[in-house]
Amino acid sequence: MQSLQSIRGMEDLFGDSLKKWSWVESQIQKVFHAYGYEEIRTPAVEPEALFKRGVGEGTDIVEKEMYSFKESDSESAQRVVLRPEGTAPVVRALIEHKLLQVLPQKVFYMGPMFRKERPQKGRYRQFFQYGFELFGEASAASDFESLLLVAKIYKAVGLTSFEIQINTLGDPEHRDRYRAKLLEYFQSHASQLSQLSQERMSKNPMRIFDSKSPEDQKICEGAPLFTDFLDGEALAHWEELKTFLAEASFPWKLNPRLVRGLDYYTRTVFEIVDTGGNLGSQNALGGGGRYDGLTKDLGGPQVPALGFAGGMERLLLALGEKIPTLPPRFELGVVAIGEKSHRLALGVVERLRDLAISVDIDPDSKKSPKAHFKRADRMKAPLVWILGDEEINQGLVKIKNMQSGEEVTHNLKSQENLRQSYVDLLSTLIKAR
Ligand code: AMP
Repeated sequence: MQSLQSIRGMEDLFGDSLKKWSWVESQIQKVFHAYGYEEIRTPAVEPEALFKRGVGEGTDIVEKEMYSFKESDSESAQRVVLRPEGTAPVVRALIEHKLLQVLPQKVFYMGPMFRKERPQKGRYRQFFQYGFELFGEASAASDFESLLLVAKIYKAVGLTSFEIQINTLGDPEHRDRYRAKLLEYFQSHASQLSQLSQERMSKNPMRIFDSKSPEDQKICEGAPLFTDFLDGEALAHWEELKTFLAEASFPWKLNPRLVRGLDYYTRTVFEIVDTGGNLGSQNALGGGGRYDGLTKDLGGPQVPALGFAGGMERLLLALGEKIPTLPPRFELGVVAIGEKSHRLALGVVERLRDLAISVDIDPDSKKSPKAHFKRADRMKAPLVWILGDEEINQGLVKIKNMQSGEEVTHNLKSQENLRQSYVDLLSTLIKAR
């Protein structure tokens, strides 16, 4: 029979790469905690309407990337989707549970997202995001604090090759004015634009900036700049943020063409780009920005908000070999020779496991000493405890260091309670490593 395989663009995670993954996750969680963010977990399936309203009808995600199906077989069942992003679900959940009545709210999430994209390196159909959402803070100072948090995430995992690009998209009225001017500009160059950009023009001309075509990019260079259309509070907010960044000597780069692909952003937007070269064309590690109108658009109170999401797979690719050496799976392996030793060793092993020490022992006492040694080797435990009748009779603990091959014999403190004496000495030796 033909064997079954995972779906294209959806990967299995296991072994060392999962260990690295978990380490990265734990580092990121520590940063979230340091800023007072609490975890939220929302379902993987949400109403399709949530993203149509939240992310926007004209976006790539909603137009062509969602896995969509009916909630049940009933005629009137709503359409649901595998969530393509985390912000709209978080906003839905906070509104539903009336959590936006006490502000600020700070939540973070980690979990799989789904987009029907063409898979390639750094781009998958199931991918994991780590993200945070901040509700109830309107100030430029909170934008600045969020950017500090984002930079800290990458520092915490040891990534040095990244750049933070920032832009402002102003308030809706600035966007409307800018969009009209931009449309005028692109219309006057329509014949030189790619097919895709021509299609984007009528829906959202700002999306043309995302085009990868060199001809389109050349035309984009001459396009009017958003910052020329900013005024009032949105301009003051932008200037204040830039002052904070300058005073802190925070490294950042203005990217006036950064629009982000989603409709909900207002004012500050940012993207983290890998500059280390491990990622090829999919070099955006994460992105985010302010979305002051989204809670209201989704039926909740008007609450200023800001969020960020990064991709786990890309972060791991960017880190490459930079992740510190991870602890081995087992701290101790055991070679117990003979029935009596094996029985004693099993008891000791269980006590060590009570102390959260990871130990491997072959449960079958009938196997040969050679087989036990082979197993210890395969399990890659750094230390192996060797126990036979002689060691028991003389109250000895024989330990082999698997890296150096060196064997050291220690004396038990007492032979009165043999099992406890073994536990005490072995746990001390392992913890001292
Ligand atoms: P976005 O909000 O679409 O910019 O996504 C935020 C981050 O998630 C991106 O910067 C990527 O790191 C990651 N990401 C988005 N889409 C994918 C994908 N299809 N495969 C892997 N990572 C992705």
